[in-house]
Amino acid sequence: MPIRNTHNRHCEDAGIDKIICDEVNGWMDEPIKNYPGCGHRNYRHGSKDCRDISKRGRNTTEVHQYFNACQIHRDLDRKYNGCGCSPLYDKI
Ligand SMILES: [Zn+2]
Repeated sequence: MPIRNTHNRHCEDAGIDKIICDEVNGWMDEPIKNYPGCGHRNYRHGSKDCRDISKRGRNTTEVHQYFNACQIHRDLDRKYNGCGCSPLYDKI
């Protein structure tokens, strides 16, 4: 399962602001505290969640960065997904 640093690296490599990357990745994986393992992906890992967190952006550029950071996190989790968490596969 990708760890926070791996998520942040992929996100920053895509040209997204470091602080936004860390904020989004931290938010998405926060449910691990209550749902360890891949079950945490049933929370905050859907395309609707990406739209929700993109509202934190203060301008168009930031909105796109929040949204893309979230999608990049989902892409990476899909690659490592061994548990078939459905939110990772929903359509935008
Ligand atoms: Zn995740």
